[in-house]
Amino acid sequence: MSAGALIAVEAVTRRFGGFTALDGVSLEVRPGERLGLIGPNGSGKTTLINCVAGALAPDSGRVLFDSRDVTRLPAHRRARLGIARSFQIPRPFASMSVLENLAIPLEYAAGLRGRARIENRAAAVLGLVGLADRAGENAGALTQVDQRKLELARALAARPRALIADEAMAGLAHAEIDEILAILRRLNDEGIAVVMIEHIMRAVMSFSERVAVLDAGRLIAEGEPEAVMRHPDVEKAYLGE
Ligand code: ADP
Ligand code: MG
Repeated sequence: MSAGALIAVEAVTRRFGGFTALDGVSLEVRPGERLGLIGPNGSGKTTLINCVAGALAPDSGRVLFDSRDVTRLPAHRRARLGIARSFQIPRPFASMSVLENLAIPLEYAAGLRGRARIENRAAAVLGLVGLADRAGENAGALTQVDQRKLELARALAARPRALIADEAMAGLAHAEIDEILAILRRLNDEGIAVVMIEHIMRAVMSFSERVAVLDAGRLIAEGEPEAVMRHPDVEKAYLGE
């Protein structure tokens, strides 16, 4: 890995049975950067972040966080080190309040103790994602965009240094996409490296300083967004979809 990478994925391969979902993928995330990760459906984006966040172990290759080998660490240990991810499909505890949904990761991922401290921190995180006035509502009753915000808030509970947002905008309307974009920018302004996995190209292109492209489990291009989109292999991958 190059000096100073926050996350370094080194030659990660992951198979499911006889199928190779990730094939020797190497990729770095720099401290504080905004990286777009794109690729057709089934190209391995979610599998890659599962390997980074610890939901899956690679069959070979390594994952480093802040120069430390975390390949075999369970997800909750990686979360405590500063790797946060939001899920493609939000999974709030529907019968609990928005605040209670945050209290759980604050206690178990961030290790906070004491009701007052947990509630203060929860209120601060809800403010960051624009949900301050929803704290007492049932999470199951939130609109889709507010559920996405809660999903981001849950990922932020442990004060991460890297946030990987897996399709946090899918299915949202134009103005809602802009709301999520603004939240991700604000988090990045606070120094959090943000990896945006997204199909909405307007969002990816306006947000990302760098774009990486997966196709059929391989990294086929990486670099400055405009240049990457002009790459013939990238055009081919998307035309084939
Ligand atoms: P993406 O997020 O880019 O759409 P995924 O990483 O979810 O792609 O999936 C990559 C490939 O791996 C797909 O073909 C998918 O069906 C397969 N895959 C992902 N997870 C599993 C699993 N747990 N078991 C079997 N196959 C899987
Ligand atoms: Mg996915």
